[in-house]
Amino acid sequence: MGRRALGLDASTFAFFTRNPRGGNAKALDERDVAELRQIMEKNGFGQLVAHAPYTMNLCSANPETVDFARRAMAGDLERLDSLPGNYYNFHPGSHVKQGPERGIELICEGLNEVLVPGQKTVVLLETMAGKGSEVGRSFEELARIIEGTKHDELLGVCLDTCHVNDAGYDIVDDLEGVLDEFDRVIGLDRLRALHLNDSKNPRGARKDRHEKIGRGTLGVDCFAAIVRHPFLRTLPMVLETPNELDGYAQEIALLRCLAGEDSD
Ligand code: FE
Ligand code: FE
Ligand code: ZN
Repeated sequence: MGRRALGLDASTFAFFTRNPRGGNAKALDERDVAELRQIMEKNGFGQLVAHAPYTMNLCSANPETVDFARRAMAGDLERLDSLPGNYYNFHPGSHVKQGPERGIELICEGLNEVLVPGQKTVVLLETMAGKGSEVGRSFEELARIIEGTKHDELLGVCLDTCHVNDAGYDIVDDLEGVLDEFDRVIGLDRLRALHLNDSKNPRGARKDRHEKIGRGTLGVDCFAAIVRHPFLRTLPMVLETPNELDGYAQEIALLRCLAGEDSD
């Protein structure tokens, strides 16, 4: 993964901690981990943003699903301790007709069971588009999860640009206003990583369909503002656009150019 990222001129990457549709995790190869850490150090990588499986739902109405989610998260965090100081991003969950109140309660319960002081990974709640019964479509919902979690020092937020647009936040014409609101409701110090995706849908559509950078409703100027922003530009940024590897290399080059970095 590290070598592949280098080949794309990336200095961070995301990876699934296990099959994204769930299932068991592969055993760790200690030599592989050591080699990755060496590559990251030698090439000045930023923090990595691991992604939990999509099927993980801490607030499912099915107790077995909740149980799987808690065990999967605990297991992933334990394994991530061998790569200390990075991030673990997850979708807060879908409350499936139980209502957001109960959803938030279950998510907090799960996090209170799973997060352990001394773990070496900060867990990130992803901002969601609000498709179906997704919890985390507003900053208020994320703030309530953080408030309800005992070891909140182990929690942060990953802002997905497509998702916040689809949830109704106007990052195209009022990026500063949205960040002010984030600061007021959650606190900007919680913002630890970005998912950079353009969106196929207009603001507030609650759809969650990613588009290539500059080809969607957000547009290239929105991403220029993000990569030039004095705070945002310090965060790890992950692309989840519909691309193959060469497409990612091109988007990374575009974003570096927009950020005013010299290419060599
Ligand atoms: Fe995600
Ligand atoms: Fe995302
Ligand atoms: Zn998405």
